[in-house]
Amino acid sequence: MDLLDTLTAKGLRGEVPTREEALAVLATTDDELLDVVAAAGKVRRRWFGRRVKLNYLVNLKSGLCPEDCSYCSQRLGSKAEILKYTWLKPDQAADAARAGVAGGAKRVCLVASGRGPTDRDIDRVTDTMAAIKDADPEVEICVCLGLLSDNQAERLKAAGADAYNHNLNTSENTYGAITKTHTYADRVDTVQKAHGAGLSACSGLIAGMGETDEDLVDVVFALRELGSDSVPVNFLIPFEGTPLAKEWNLTPQRCLRILAMVRFVNPDTEVRIAGGREVHLRTMQPLGLHIANSIFLGDYLTSEGQAGQTDLDMIKDAGFEVEGAGEATLPRHRADVAAAAATGSGCGTAASACGSGCGPCGGHEHAPLAGTASAPAPASEGADGANSANGELRDDLVKVRRRGAGTELAPNA
Ligand code: SF4
Repeated sequence: MDLLDTLTAKGLRGEVPTREEALAVLATTDDELLDVVAAAGKVRRRWFGRRVKLNYLVNLKSGLCPEDCSYCSQRLGSKAEILKYTWLKPDQAADAARAGVAGGAKRVCLVASGRGPTDRDIDRVTDTMAAIKDADPEVEICVCLGLLSDNQAERLKAAGADAYNHNLNTSENTYGAITKTHTYADRVDTVQKAHGAGLSACSGLIAGMGETDEDLVDVVFALRELGSDSVPVNFLIPFEGTPLAKEWNLTPQRCLRILAMVRFVNPDTEVRIAGGREVHLRTMQPLGLHIANSIFLGDYLTSEGQAGQTDLDMIKDAGFEVEGAGEATLPRHRADVAAAAATGSGCGTAASACGSGCGPCGGHEHAPLAGTASAPAPASEGADGANSANGELRDDLVKVRRRGAGTELAPNA
């Protein structure tokens, strides 16, 4: 049986491929690309049908972060000319959220820049969630406030949060080259705290930072082992004024291969095409919908996305449908695991992800793979080669967000 038949058969059974099989997906050629998309599409449709979940970002606090994440326009020392503002008031955030929900979003993602929340910040977010749920009790709320201290996840859960987002972003081996002010272990700890409090864990990655294929496979397997219920796949938006501004090394084809690898390793998990969709997939975005079952509607935290109506038109034209508020996102067996975690009757980790029962699942470590560097490799070591978009810098594609939360202009939804 060839690679794609094997991966399809495993995915349809909810089984995880081997690391070698995952690496082989990233090494496929452009001639094989549509076969890769078709195989991943079969797995996607098995668990998620033709539904697309829409998520809507509300940036509660923008810029002014003391952390130094190299990819981030809000980082310490960033020269990116983004919107900078401190905490939105609950009614301002609720207004922005309402626009997203009216546009079809099922989940609102409340994000604030910073290393992590103070207890006062948890109070602010509690008030904001109350304002949003007053207007629409059905809306899912995911909170993203950085590193959590003890008991903060429990407070967010008690206040009505459904999920907590904290991305691992890249492999443990390369993390130290991307960020110096906190560690990969800090990030794992926060995902575990959120999960342990009964919040659905949303944790994903950023591709295109100069990482190797092995790094990508490392982080995607780590996310599976952590039991992340949703995996946002970000494609680096190289903002001028950040250290990674020149990292233009993704092509639409490479992005589709990465999405397919993530789908095969997480067959029954929400896979979301996150930031960078318009910048890197460009006209190939509809093919991404055959692999991922979730996207952000409208704008991102600090950059503009395509118009919300264009997102909706794309979904319809590609033959998909927006997931409704009453529809479950995860397949029944995954939702049952999440519900068990929420009631404290299970560890919250997908059974197929953890062969050792209810142990400290996020603590699994992989032996470093041969050839895996301790720092990001030059982009030329990626499967597609350096700046494979003909070496072009496409900073014309990066548009700083100037509307919605924190401005007087209507949000894009
Ligand atoms: S990713 Fe978060 S913690 Fe890192 S610099 Fe950006 S806002 Fe700060």
